[in-house]
Amino acid sequence: DHIANQIAAGEVVERPSSVVKELVENSIDAGSTKIDVSIEEGGLELIRVADNGSGMEADDCETAFERHATSKIATGRDLYQIRTLGFRGEALPSIAAVSKVELLTAASSSGLGRKLVIEGGNVLLHEESRAPKGTDIQVKSLFYNTPARLKYMKTIQTEVGHVTDYLYRLAMSQPQISFSLKHNGKMLFQTLGNGDLLQVIAAIYGPQTAKLMVKLEADHPDYSLTGYVGKPELTRANRSALTTVINGRYIRSYGLVSAALQGYHTLLPLHRFPLGVIQLQMEPSLIDVNVHPAKLEVRFSKEQELYRFVEEQVKRVLRTQVL
Ligand code: ADP
Ligand code: MG
Repeated sequence: DHIANQIAAGEVVERPSSVVKELVENSIDAGSTKIDVSIEEGGLELIRVADNGSGMEADDCETAFERHATSKIATGRDLYQIRTLGFRGEALPSIAAVSKVELLTAASSSGLGRKLVIEGGNVLLHEESRAPKGTDIQVKSLFYNTPARLKYMKTIQTEVGHVTDYLYRLAMSQPQISFSLKHNGKMLFQTLGNGDLLQVIAAIYGPQTAKLMVKLEADHPDYSLTGYVGKPELTRANRSALTTVINGRYIRSYGLVSAALQGYHTLLPLHRFPLGVIQLQMEPSLIDVNVHPAKLEVRFSKEQELYRFVEEQVKRVLRTQVL
């Protein structure tokens, strides 16, 4: 089982930002409204994620580190109705296999919870401890027992960049959650969690940028579209300036970004890319999130119809509010 976890770790845990991704997704799944991330030395020394979510019951916190111990799938059919972000039960055991983990968690506000220390997958300590409701997990010395992987890490600044970029996108996908990120004790960004996407955009890119955004809002029998797209003054060199969010979850979709860009560039034939956030709500049964191991890439049924809708709406908002 140790070997299976190490193999899975190779897929799930590529770099510090993949750990941040898995931990923060768990915090979101646990219903947290406040998620505070701090990292040291680009996350290689420490990645700490503290949330105010459901916490784990005493009986559940050790099993959470066993393979496929997800609490999130009740039946096979649920695989097609995924609403939570995680569902494979692979993240915690994979992370614990390649680091030193310290977990503090409490499922109630009684002031008492559990403390666990796990090193390279071995439980060294499991005791009752004072703990506020929620989960506070520290991942230390990432890849300490897999030196080959450690060698692949880029500079600290590059790793911080990956973590920051990912948290920006999560914050934009969940404006009702307050996020913060510190690196070596310095606050890098912080969102209020008041549900206002434009305020999140302002927290990330600055208030001037937020002022240059136009609002997307449209309904279709199968989807509803919200979000913002930047005026031409606000373009970037790279198409990743557009963030796509489906049902509150940040995903990568080449097709969706291309559809939005098609709409944008038809009316504003620029060689650059608009900053923006495309948020779609749709029935989970219209989405297949099971195609990519990192669960970022998704497919849709009625894909062409969805793309045409997004393209038309981007055109409409440019025509009415920009041109
Ligand atoms: P998955 O998210 O796919 O279920 P993970 O390995 O990421 O698998 O987590 C295993 C289990 O640990 C989760 O199903 C959940 O029950 C529990 N868990 C992990 N993180 C948290 C958290 N921050 N708050 C509450 N429960 C958590
Ligand atoms: Mg998970």
